[in-house]
Amino acid sequence: MTPDDAQKLLAACAAFDNRQPSQIAKRAWATALKDVPLDQDAFDAVARFYGTPPKEPGQRLWIQPHDVRTWRLTIRRERLENFVYDGDPDETPQQYLARRRQQIAAVAAGEIAGPADAPALEGGPHRSVVKKLEGVGREVPGDDEPAEKVRRPGPLGIECPACQAPIGRPCKSALRNRASKVIHPARRRAAAGGPVATESPEEIKRRRAASLAHLERLRANEAETPRESA
Ligand SMILES: [Zn+2]
Repeated sequence: MTPDDAQKLLAACAAFDNRQPSQIAKRAWATALKDVPLDQDAFDAVARFYGTPPKEPGQRLWIQPHDVRTWRLTIRRERLENFVYDGDPDETPQQYLARRRQQIAAVAAGEIAGPADAPALEGGPHRSVVKKLEGVGREVPGDDEPAEKVRRPGPLGIECPACQAPIGRPCKSALRNRASKVIHPARRRAAAGGPVATESPEEIKRRRAASLAHLERLRANEAETPRESA
């Protein structure tokens, strides 16, 4: 932030602590916070600081530049709490890195909403449990009416039209040759009731070429612009 920005932030602090405006303070704060932009999160950091009880009861709160930095980071990290990368299992590692960084930055800044639900725990059950569960859930042939299958919500509730991952199984990544945590966009669309049209190999090739070109442009841009620290 610039000294003028720091002046505005100090005015917000003064509303809480009655500090007197000074030229020295605004320049000092601008220097200490030169990599922190004056955004709503910076103002919210001041409000958070003064809205949080002091460690010692009765202690007088007096905000310092490092408090603004810390509280602003906390506010941004809270938005990332349940962050789940939303991508495509077939993207290249470079695409994955670039898109993941963009998504993290956008969610941290509050530009796009993070997931509303906490993600499910991952990792399978303990071996002893797996052993006990063997046979459970296996379909028993008989002449009973087949019980209606439990419909899972979300993209895992349907077979993936792109990689044919079966119901309940994660999508397969063609590039990394293993199960992926991310879901093919076609599966998400289909699960949301959208068109199930699968793309032809030519179409996929064309789309991949286009996104690679886009990535190249992104990286070219990135090389010119300095990275913002979270
Ligand atoms: Zn898939």
